[in-house]
Amino acid sequence: MSQEIVAKKCGCCGKVFAAAIPPLSDNSGDWFDLDQRPPEPMRSELYRQIFRCPECGFSFGPKDRSVPREFVDSHEYKTCEGNRLPDGIGADYYRFGMTALRDGDKGTAFASFLRGAWAFDDANDSVNAKKCRLRCVELCKEMPAASALDAVIYADIFRRAGCFGELPSELADKHYPDELTRLVMQFEKKKAAEGDENAYTLEQCFEELGIKR
Ligand SMILES: [Zn+2]
Repeated sequence: MSQEIVAKKCGCCGKVFAAAIPPLSDNSGDWFDLDQRPPEPMRSELYRQIFRCPECGFSFGPKDRSVPREFVDSHEYKTCEGNRLPDGIGADYYRFGMTALRDGDKGTAFASFLRGAWAFDDANDSVNAKKCRLRCVELCKEMPAASALDAVIYADIFRRAGCFGELPSELADKHYPDELTRLVMQFEKKKAAEGDENAYTLEQCFEELGIKR
């Protein structure tokens, strides 16, 4: 299959460039991870929506965002806030998160840092995946969980970032009306108590808890 190319315009320096789009994965799976990391091919579809300008290094998504050149040229931006992530989709998502934060858009920033973590998960780079999750943890502390789903995603991110026992007790110990949320939270607390930072799907969670679906 030939490589897909699209024309993109940089929202920082204005350069128009040809971006090579990564192929969709041939793999397919049914289950999301507990942090909502989607199965393939949904996941590689995400990775086709982030771009990096070859001229100035600005990372951006499908929607236009413009930033001044000083922002992209800053040490903070270049080093992903000192995390020194290797160039690629994970770092692009991290930088996209920094741009969203600059606009005060914490929700988009959170989603971008998490996508960065998923890209590093796919590259079997647990060190840099963890740096992205730790950035998410910082944001979790600034944004109250708005739903039961948020609560279990937060629990998974805290655990996988190695922040065992740091999940606020109002999330960890709340009695959720929904049984699924209660079960996943129970699983997350058990894994956190064991110091387990691994990824689990909802299917694996049910298996371990002995729940027949
Ligand atoms: Zn540019």
